[in-house]
Amino acid sequence: MRHLVRSRSELQKQVAELVEQRAAISEVLRAVANSPHDLQPIFDTILINATRLCGATYGGLLLFEEKGYRSVARRGPVNPVYAERWPLGLVEPIGPGDPVARLIESGSPVHIADLAADQAYLRRDPRIVALVELAGVRTCLLVPLLKNNELIGALGINREQVQPFTDRQIDLVTDFAAQTTIALESTRRERQYREAQMALAHANRIATMGQLSASISHEVNQPITAAVTYALAARRWLSAEPPDLGEVSEALDLIIKEGNRASDVIGRIRGLIKKAPPRKDVVFINDAILEVVALTRAEAANNDVLVRTQLAPGLPPVQGDRVQLQQVMVNLIVNAVQAMSGTGEGAHELKISIDAVPFESGVRVGVRDTGPGLSPESLSRLFEPFYTTKPEGMGMGLSICRSIIEAHSGRLWAIPCEPHGALFQFTIPAT
Ligand code: ADP
Repeated sequence: MRHLVRSRSELQKQVAELVEQRAAISEVLRAVANSPHDLQPIFDTILINATRLCGATYGGLLLFEEKGYRSVARRGPVNPVYAERWPLGLVEPIGPGDPVARLIESGSPVHIADLAADQAYLRRDPRIVALVELAGVRTCLLVPLLKNNELIGALGINREQVQPFTDRQIDLVTDFAAQTTIALESTRRERQYREAQMALAHANRIATMGQLSASISHEVNQPITAAVTYALAARRWLSAEPPDLGEVSEALDLIIKEGNRASDVIGRIRGLIKKAPPRKDVVFINDAILEVVALTRAEAANNDVLVRTQLAPGLPPVQGDRVQLQQVMVNLIVNAVQAMSGTGEGAHELKISIDAVPFESGVRVGVRDTGPGLSPESLSRLFEPFYTTKPEGMGMGLSICRSIIEAHSGRLWAIPCEPHGALFQFTIPAT
């Protein structure tokens, strides 16, 4: 009977342990999901759980590099002298007595019951002496991080007293090591994906700006021409008898104003072309739209397209990347112009209407054209990467626009209009 009672309480203990382990594993998975770009919180969660569940004093994570290994996270009370000599981030060459060297050799967990009884310590290998005497490590367990059978790092837990880890604890640390590898891999993929997306968005932006070259040179030329006209007038006022210095001064003011206008336009174009990481600005959508309209005006006029704006006053500012949002609008306008430039001349008025209205607590922007509209095929494929019906098209514009809007927690969609034309709309919630 006593035996039965004991085994029942044993069983209860085991179940409680398993529940705790499961909770820890899901906590780590949550950390992986919640932190796609930053590994540190994931490493911390893993080490906190591994040390707690295995009753370890310290935990550490290291990643292999060409010249040795780098400690990337630590948990537990670290001796300050040790921490100063071996700070986080330092690349440490792998000495022959180092448990890490044994891990590399065997490719499987290294479990040392008492580091102070180990040959490397008895040989007075300085790294091991420091681990025992400074860091206070006695029992030490090191589990490999394996990615497709390649050793990429190790997860270690240590105790300051001599007390070997159980098989169950070793299995648990092995599970945590597998999760660390998954986190590393998913963050790497996420980073690669972001970089590729940024490069594509940049390429698309340059391509779009290329299509706007007529418009851009017009925008830059206009203030320069005006400045020259004012300068000629100033010269006339100066050579008058007597010179009219009041008029000269006024002309000079106007020249300065036009000069600034030209440099603003160039600054805006440079902003749209330059490759920069996404920002969080306070964006007044109406101003952003008006700037884009100014840049695309000549392009539209060259194609006999009229651009009209209907911007609701007092829209709430939204938070986001101003340049990216402008890129979306430039894309939608250029697409609309291109769609209409293919339609038969004089069939109907070619017009782009841009409106911005309050939407929920944010804004909704619409770009409507009177072009050929959207066929069922193109309606279902518009936002697919590389879908294009243009001979020179890249087919990336709308897919990039959608990912930009979604990164701003908004939506972008398209609908055909009656009797002709397409309407693209996007929403940006206020944050
Ligand atoms: P691209 O402009 O390089 O083709 P996009 O992703 O910007 O790439 O557009 C994909 C396709 O969607 C275009 O090739 C065109 O067929 C269609 N499309 C986009 N905007 C419009 C529009 N305003 N009217 C009709 N079709 C459009």
